[in-house]
Amino acid sequence: MGLGQWFSRLSVRQRSWFLGTTATALMTVGFGVLANPPGGAGDSVGFSVDMSIGEIAPELNVTGKALARELGLPLDVPKRTPLGALGVAPEELEHVTEHLLSHRDATLKYYVFVALVVFGLVFLTRLGRPDSSDVEHRREWYPRTPYVVSLILSVVVTGFVLGKSPNPMEGAVKIFKSMVGLYPDPAAKVIAFLFFVALAIVGNKMICGWACPFGSLQELFYSIPILRRTKRRKLPFVLTNAIRAGLFVAMLLFLFGAIGGRRGTVIYHYLNPFGLFNFDFETISILATILLALVAAVFVYRPFCQLICPFGFLSWMVERFSIARVRVDQERCTECGACIKACPLEAAEGRVYARRLAADCFSCARCLNVCPVDAIRYGVARSKGATGEPR
Ligand code: SF4
Ligand code: SF4
Repeated sequence: MGLGQWFSRLSVRQRSWFLGTTATALMTVGFGVLANPPGGAGDSVGFSVDMSIGEIAPELNVTGKALARELGLPLDVPKRTPLGALGVAPEELEHVTEHLLSHRDATLKYYVFVALVVFGLVFLTRLGRPDSSDVEHRREWYPRTPYVVSLILSVVVTGFVLGKSPNPMEGAVKIFKSMVGLYPDPAAKVIAFLFFVALAIVGNKMICGWACPFGSLQELFYSIPILRRTKRRKLPFVLTNAIRAGLFVAMLLFLFGAIGGRRGTVIYHYLNPFGLFNFDFETISILATILLALVAAVFVYRPFCQLICPFGFLSWMVERFSIARVRVDQERCTECGACIKACPLEAAEGRVYARRLAADCFSCARCLNVCPVDAIRYGVARSKGATGEPR
């Protein structure tokens, strides 16, 4: 069903929701533009090797230790000595400052994330199925176009236009980096992390499903209608989550110096695909991660999210507290498997059988228009007999 056809079937109440939500999303972004015009200060600061770590680090919003680490110097190197005297070459300083500047948060992005999540949430809970439509017409529910438009906006605006930072993955890592003294303002990192967690809880992983630029890019690649048979095979959640959790534990052990003996080493730094949005491929491993994730995303659902992303792992741990989410009415459910087949992960299966450790749900809506007995919905209130939560 085309977008116009879907819109024409919405009730007056739903059209009001659509227009009101679109206006709210636009106003949110407009407010963000007014409060934080793009192209803020900092990009043009001129640094030289005649300056010391103590002079440069505050301009980059990192601690002296963090800058020393980036420059490959010991963490306890004198912070008042000119960098040239410490053996730092101008090109090396330029490279490092460019990299650290690319991590400065484009604050406007927080507003765009909110706008995309709000729109997605209203689409899933209020608009996806026209009020007057019954289960016989379920194939007309949840057209893909609004989702695809949201994904493209996410990639273009929160990715290529506004750059790589902030993003949920870095939000999850920076909170731990600030614990080893790599940021001067740990409170700001805590707030940023809580912001992303809140957007994951308000709707089940909505920030990942609808707004994260690298998640959206993988979703778009997966939506290319080829290799359909291969796509039906799902990676076992027990394996993907074990790999993702193992990497997360390894990150902590390296970061706190329990492995490698040097505090402050961040293994995700070598696997961070968000550099794509600044065309900043700092290491071969970053370029390889991006290429592998995007090629694999054509036939495996969000491979980076399933196997690597620390925010994917942390948000999976909190998704049982999500307010709006896929809910299965077990009194109606006949366990026919239609939603399980439609789901690109083991997420629908976990919800149908109310598994304690269900796979992540990215709120993609694929399972919401396939149930022949109308037993699966995306909602807030828990209706009688609805489950989808761990027993
Ligand atoms: S899990 Fe995927 S969508 Fe979520 S933050 Fe990580 S990369 Fe983005
Ligand atoms: S198809 Fe799977 S991932 Fe998508 S909304 Fe349904 S349960 Fe979640």
